Amino acid sequence: MTHPIPFMKLNVKPKIPASLALLETLSYNLWSTWDKDAQRLFRRLDPKIFRQCDHNPVKLLHLVPEERLEELSSDRGFLYELEQVGEKFNSYLEYQGVYTDGSGKVRDIVGDHYIAYFSMEYGLHESIPAYSGGLGVLAGDYLKAASDQGIPLKAFGLLYKHGYFSQYINLEGMQHEEYKLIEWSTKPVRVLRKADGSEYRLAIAMTGRELQFRIWLIHVGRIELYLLDTDLPENPPDLRNITDILYDANRVTRIRQEILLALGGRKLMKELSFHPTIYHLNEGHSAFLILDRLRGLIVEGGHTLREAREIVYNSTVFTTHTPVKDGNEHFDREQVLHCLRWALDESGIPVDDFLSWGAIENDHANFWLPAFAIRFSRFVNGVSKLHCETSRQMWQKLYPQLYEKEVPIHAITNGVHIQSWASDQIISLFDRYIGPDYQHMAEQKAVWENIVTIPDSEVWEAHRQRKDQMISFIRTRVEESMIERGELVRTLRRTRNILHPEFLTIGFARRFAPYKRADLILEDPERLLNILRHPQKPVQFVFAGKAHPADDKGKRLIKRLIDFARENGVEDRFVFIEDYDINVARHIVQGVDVWLNNPIKPLEASGTSGMKAGMNGVLNLSVLDGWWPEAWNDINGWAINAGVSFSDVRMRRQMEANQIYEIIENEIREIFYDVDQTAIPREWVRRMKNSIFTIGMNFNMHRMLREYVDKFYVPGIENYEKLSENDFELMKKELAFEEAFTAQWERIQPLEIRTSGNSGQTLVTGSGIEISASVRFEEADHSLFTVEIFYDNGKDILFVPMDFQNLDEDGICHFSGILQVKGVGSQIVNVRIRPNSPHTGRLYRDYVRWFDVN
Ligand SMILES: *Cc1c(COP(=O)(O)O)cnc(C)c1O
Repeated sequence: MTHPIPFMKLNVKPKIPASLALLETLSYNLWSTWDKDAQRLFRRLDPKIFRQCDHNPVKLLHLVPEERLEELSSDRGFLYELEQVGEKFNSYLEYQGVYTDGSGKVRDIVGDHYIAYFSMEYGLHESIPAYSGGLGVLAGDYLKAASDQGIPLKAFGLLYKHGYFSQYINLEGMQHEEYKLIEWSTKPVRVLRKADGSEYRLAIAMTGRELQFRIWLIHVGRIELYLLDTDLPENPPDLRNITDILYDANRVTRIRQEILLALGGRKLMKELSFHPTIYHLNEGHSAFLILDRLRGLIVEGGHTLREAREIVYNSTVFTTHTPVKDGNEHFDREQVLHCLRWALDESGIPVDDFLSWGAIENDHANFWLPAFAIRFSRFVNGVSKLHCETSRQMWQKLYPQLYEKEVPIHAITNGVHIQSWASDQIISLFDRYIGPDYQHMAEQKAVWENIVTIPDSEVWEAHRQRKDQMISFIRTRVEESMIERGELVRTLRRTRNILHPEFLTIGFARRFAPYKRADLILEDPERLLNILRHPQKPVQFVFAGKAHPADDKGKRLIKRLIDFARENGVEDRFVFIEDYDINVARHIVQGVDVWLNNPIKPLEASGTSGMKAGMNGVLNLSVLDGWWPEAWNDINGWAINAGVSFSDVRMRRQMEANQIYEIIENEIREIFYDVDQTAIPREWVRRMKNSIFTIGMNFNMHRMLREYVDKFYVPGIENYEKLSENDFELMKKELAFEEAFTAQWERIQPLEIRTSGNSGQTLVTGSGIEISASVRFEEADHSLFTVEIFYDNGKDILFVPMDFQNLDEDGICHFSGILQVKGVGSQIVNVRIRPNSPHTGRLYRDYVRWFDVN
């Protein structure tokens, strides 16, 4: 509510003594939220306030009493520590990445080219609640790793007034959402100002009106993250609220958010004279960028539409995260046109063309942003190998002429930022036993070899300390929420017995989306109770997670867990922690013994919380979905793979739950409680070390970022340089070639193919089949095309170009080739015709013609 008397707002900060000025500099760079030494320094100011303000250094400096600052300003020990951290910070900023390519050659990765990264959400720190889940946390970790590695990248997003909601559980066990106003003035973020000190004010067109916005800047180490904000009195109320909340459920607001991110982001780039070569779209929300780039290239750059399309296509990277079609962002076509027809008019893009770019099969009512993005991105990826396959199936319809394995979607499996997710204890083991190299180049495998040399006792001790800290954190949290709910001191005393440090502890924390099945463990309540109450080998569970406000199913999952604990009197060992966020996540992934994940395969695109747990030595117990099939080696955790042959969901559920109980009862519990005379469970610790080693080495964010650099950014930039040389000479040649062959495409008729064997015959591996094919080209120039044997042996796909034999008197061209069959099993083969570009050799996704072999 606004106050009836109109007050002017002031924001008063304490005076920072000159000798502590560095503290303020550090506080405005998120580096100090992930660097352990910087964290320790800030905590030293006042541990209690530091905790209360969500470990936010800026707020801390607002709240620490002036006397305390005075005291510290002459505390030699403190000043020494401050200086040390300052030096560490400076050398971090100056770190020069050294990149070696596959052959070990040192090279400058991207020259003076830049990458622009776009995401609707960023999960950077618990004090910045501008994320809802894994997608945002991934984007946050991405920026941190780009900073660690010195990747030339700038990032763009929105600054929300309320961000994502805070979760409270009411007396009935139901989730209640609270959208708190975010106090941005005490966050590590500042309004972007011009040289003269005035705020930037930029504007874009929004349905015939002017939408103004200002810009905030967050320093993520060396990376600049720009956030756009429409909460300005100059804007009419219905435009002012665009950036109120993350993923606004109102479709009008939502499309405006996405247009703002794309068009506003580009406006800002221009203002800052920032000209990236590569645009990276994290999910489809920012896909309107493509339209705005086309418009810019046509209207300001003087390119034709076809040229503009080619330029955008060659410089766009798109990462998809959503394996369910309907979960992908789409809007009613009329709504999209209502907002963006002006851009089409201005650039002369035909409306029908534009709509077809966002169309998917059988849906003529909506505009699908991911479809638009895929069609306009040379580089598209899913976030795990399995998700890549799922995405290819899902988007195959965009390329009816392509074989499924050729659908141009690649796999780059997610990773997590080690320093943000590994515990202080694990980090200190890394520092001491593997050296500091992992801070900038965790992707180098050699860095990790020494993990095996860490003594068992130290790994176990590190883990026990984290577990103790997690338990005291949870007890405090539970106590705080009980006080909020008005519970009595007598009941409160019980919180002191919540969770036992010696008991085997299983964690489950993630968004409560129904497909993640948080309640699967309740499938057989009696069996679960026996597991929890085992007299010698008890087990306890920790849960956390938010359900989407509109998701009643998800909310009921929370209630089921809470009711189960209450009804059976196991609240001390079956605990739900409210308000899951990065802070809660960090405590749990560092402190539990086992990390449980049981989604309905293949709906978990990647999953990253298991990586966070794994690199802390927590063993994963997970459905073989997302990243886990790539990581599981039978030592670093357990695979849930039962029920795969059942299409009946209920049946599958039962089988999977049964397997979870079996593994807990017969494997996990036995190994965990099998301790030697020094109270160390040797086999467990061996597995922990294997987990830290394999998951730390393969699922860290540096490895992931390097894959983006090596597979997308560098080839994209190199290719772009070639295409754009001499005023886009090569690109124009390619487009001329395209024009030439498309004019002839419809005339080409594949006639028949003959093989030395028949369809369905059995061959011996290694033998050859002669294949000949005849094609009528009419007047078309056959040298523009290639006729090739296409072969899938179940493992790889192969293409064998066929040789031109002759043109007979009926005007028919004959081609022949020999296919050497490889591997064994059921295989497939056919012949196809496609354009044969002499310039770039590219595959034209819409121009592939197959022979009819039936
Ligand atoms: C890591 C993380 C996630 C993603 O977890 P998944 O296992 O991928 O579902 C979601 N929310 C927060 C706060 C996280 O830290």
